[in-house]
Amino acid sequence: MNTPRRTDNILRTAADLVTETRRGCPIMLQRRFNHDKKIFLGYQAAHTLLDDLQAAGIVGYPATRAYRAHRVLMDRATAAAALNACTDRVQAWTTLYECRSCYRASPWTNLGNETDEFWCPDCEDTVPISDCRVITSA
Ligand SMILES: [Zn+2]
Repeated sequence: MNTPRRTDNILRTAADLVTETRRGCPIMLQRRFNHDKKIFLGYQAAHTLLDDLQAAGIVGYPATRAYRAHRVLMDRATAAAALNACTDRVQAWTTLYECRSCYRASPWTNLGNETDEFWCPDCEDTVPISDCRVITSA
């Protein structure tokens, strides 16, 4: 496995981005993670980030299903405090795996009993987890 790249916690960074831009949409998150952090975040991962921000009350339900933009309900400081009450969700975003096939980064999804394989929710490829580049966060 390659040396992990370090970054800030993905969910906390996402909370900062949606509260700064007042835009809760997956494409904004993908663009900003790519530009600011050089992380090619998968679309499904970006959508799941917004689901977790919604569960924390930071964003609301998507306005329409097609666009999937969530209304931003909190300012940055309030959102950061709200995440402190969701340590399990924050913890779930401490490690991303970069798919060897499509180079998109996602949290590891265990679909079966194979604990050594990574299933990519974007290209749906299954690769040995040891072949994936790892992105970890504090
Ligand atoms: Zn992939």
